[in-house]
Amino acid sequence: MQRYKNFVNGTYLDNHTKEYFAVVNPATGKQIYEVEIADKTVLNAARESAAAGFKVWSAMDAVTRSRILMAAVSLLRKKNHELAQIEVMDTGKPFQEAVAVDVVTGADVIEFFAWAAPGISGSQQDLGQDFYYTRREPLGICAGIGAWNYPLQIACWKAGPALACGNSMIFKPSEETPLGALKLAEIFTQAGVPDGVFNVVQGAAAVGQWLTACPGIEKISFTGEVGTGKKVMTSAASTLKDVTMELGGKSALIIFEDADLDNAVSAAMLGNFYTQGEVCTNCTRVFVHTSIQEQFLKTLLDRIRANIKMGDPMDPDTNFGALISSEHREKVLSYIQTAKAEGATQLCGHTMPDLPNQNQEGFFLPPTVFTHCTDEMTLVKEEVFGPVMAVLDFDREAEVIQRANATHFGLAAGVFTTDIQRAHRVIHQLEAGICWINAYGNSPAQMPVGGYKQSGIGRENGRETIRHYTQVKSIYMGMGPLDSPF
Ligand code: NAD
Repeated sequence: MQRYKNFVNGTYLDNHTKEYFAVVNPATGKQIYEVEIADKTVLNAARESAAAGFKVWSAMDAVTRSRILMAAVSLLRKKNHELAQIEVMDTGKPFQEAVAVDVVTGADVIEFFAWAAPGISGSQQDLGQDFYYTRREPLGICAGIGAWNYPLQIACWKAGPALACGNSMIFKPSEETPLGALKLAEIFTQAGVPDGVFNVVQGAAAVGQWLTACPGIEKISFTGEVGTGKKVMTSAASTLKDVTMELGGKSALIIFEDADLDNAVSAAMLGNFYTQGEVCTNCTRVFVHTSIQEQFLKTLLDRIRANIKMGDPMDPDTNFGALISSEHREKVLSYIQTAKAEGATQLCGHTMPDLPNQNQEGFFLPPTVFTHCTDEMTLVKEEVFGPVMAVLDFDREAEVIQRANATHFGLAAGVFTTDIQRAHRVIHQLEAGICWINAYGNSPAQMPVGGYKQSGIGRENGRETIRHYTQVKSIYMGMGPLDSPF
């Protein structure tokens, strides 16, 4: 079985402990390769190479850095098919998604920041004869820690702005999906990114903890669960690192009685079943106006039956894949059991379709919809991170806003209505960082994304992010004799 190593200083590096972990294809339940765990030797080497890489990279002019990143963007797009296959084998998501979204949106973000980097500048202000100016400087070594649902995209979304701003990065992918980040490291090196500027270290929580506590690492950009985010922030506080947190959600989709019903159903399905429900911004609380609920549920059920094709994710016709692991499927199933026990009605999701032979041991779970849900139910309060939609009803605008906001999460929200004033009025009152009106899930490179409340700190994508990967140096220039009482 193939065993991958850590990527340090532009090449693959052996660990000393010989420890490794195995990676399983979620669609078959079979081990597909092994990965060496980053031990102390590897981690220290990564830090040293990132420090050396930072010196070289930050001294380059931004246009040169930008050209190198654009070369990486071209390579990512050229290798889209091959990289998408890796993402499918690691995550269990459908190839038709991975080939259209994962690599492409990763490349888009690196491209956006490659274009933006030469425009990063400070300012100057006169103070009589004296003056001061500011420089927007990189932070130094940044660490990225990723989740397993969009492994390569997450690596690109962190590396793009970090590198464009002149930083170096040590990236730790999720131990469930470690290969995409190694491929990105190879691509950066091939594109001309100097050794040490992008390193990949492999392992689980212990490796993440090492990064969060490590002196000399200036920033942690983390994507994962709220609970892990709190641990990361606590640990990062020991050396007062800067942190950006992209965390979980329990987002609301509000469908008013005048909404375009077909589009609203599309949004509810996209926001619950895309990537078999493993998307942070999922609208897992679907509030449907009482007067259209029957029609909504009928259309939803018809479209689930007619259009969802669960099966081998490598089959280009499949649009619904396998959950990441057996443990995760058990967790999602336990939420389904609890929802039933608490009185919700399961509308669909009871039956598994026939699966191809090689997928019999895969971690599949059919799209599931619950109606008669109430705000107090566990399913409605906690992040499930699986294909389980909770449908709730409402009668009044003020009521639904208050209920949508009654959560410690604040990642995303959506509103469907044809009344444009109501659309904006409602969305302005929702406590969420990523909002859609008559749309759901789109995340272009230009648009900042991130959470309110416990769903996050800081933003990824958009010009906003440059502030998170740079710091301002103020330089005062005295033009005359120094005024001093001494
Ligand atoms: P997770 O929190 O379990 O793990 C995330 C990463 O943190 C992994 O690489 C893991 O190895 C590492 N880690 C675990 N313990 C750590 C510790 N103590 N210190 C440092 N690192 C540690 O999350 P997951 O299960 O991989 O991903 C699913 C979660 O990610 C969901 O909650 C989802 O909503 C969230 N997510 C959020 C976004 C976003 O942009 N807001 C995007 C994708 C996923």
